[in-house]
Amino acid sequence: MENNYMLSVKNLKKYFNTPTGVLHAVDDVSFDIPEGTTLGVVGESGCGKSTLGRTVLHLHKKTSGQIFFNGKDISEINKHEFHELRKEMQIIFQDPFSSIDPRMSVRQLIAEPLKIFKLCKSKEEIEKKVKETMDTVGLASRLADSYAHELDGGRRQRIGIGRAIILDPKFIVCDEPVSALDVSIQAQILNLMQDLQAERNLTYIFITHNLSVVKHISNDIMVMYLGCAVEKASSTDLFKHQYHPYTKALISAIPRVNLDDKSVRIPIKGELVSPIDPKDQCRFAPRCEYACDKCFASAPTLEEVEPGHFVACHRVRELNNL
Ligand code: SF4
Repeated sequence: MENNYMLSVKNLKKYFNTPTGVLHAVDDVSFDIPEGTTLGVVGESGCGKSTLGRTVLHLHKKTSGQIFFNGKDISEINKHEFHELRKEMQIIFQDPFSSIDPRMSVRQLIAEPLKIFKLCKSKEEIEKKVKETMDTVGLASRLADSYAHELDGGRRQRIGIGRAIILDPKFIVCDEPVSALDVSIQAQILNLMQDLQAERNLTYIFITHNLSVVKHISNDIMVMYLGCAVEKASSTDLFKHQYHPYTKALISAIPRVNLDDKSVRIPIKGELVSPIDPKDQCRFAPRCEYACDKCFASAPTLEEVEPGHFVACHRVRELNNL
């Protein structure tokens, strides 16, 4: 038995061969998620967070590293074994419309996973399960024969959540599930996801580029930059103290509602450098105002600077008086 976590990931790497070199999408990332909790994974687009989620679910074949689910090493399991596991490990996509068949009604879409896994003995049983699930995710039964394109973004995402939970999973990768929604609808969907987690003891990886979204739903947060984890801590700690220059800039960019809050937005200058054949250096160095020679000479690794708070920065102690 490896641990008491619902999910443990050790030194996970996912590289893609491209015509110009090897793209390091996920580079040596490790984390643990206790059962019934949420790990928020945050970073700009292109930082590897979605690839991370998909690699955990075997939708991408990992390059190296280990994945433990509920204490079992699932790193090397075959397609057939993983098919069985998919009942317990689900995904919610940013735009459920892009992942579903537009010719299927709401009823058919929500029933589809039950049919794929042959989990019901009769049509009546499927119908009952679909009705219960629509109820749980807040879809009125009158919508059962509607099509996804007739519904607003919030209701479409409720279909995506219904499809994910109808199999009674233990773990869900939520890949930018509210990014395409209006702010008021975002709150409704986040509340629904939190209620489901409390009722069913679900474990989530919640992937987003928006730190303010992840703040309320995550127990722990991991900030990623160009395939690497640069800071990891509990959500409370991370919002109290950020130690990595990149995390500080991300948090400073969250819009403030309090007019007395005079904190200044820290600009991140320059563009993301290419993740293809990256040099052995801090990947944030070309954009970091504190970069020194050492930052361009070797890549920093995560170190625990306070209990449970990890940062990958050569100058973290000096810059933060730790
Ligand atoms: Fe900036 Fe250097 Fe720290 Fe990287 S290691 S974040 S370049 S100070």
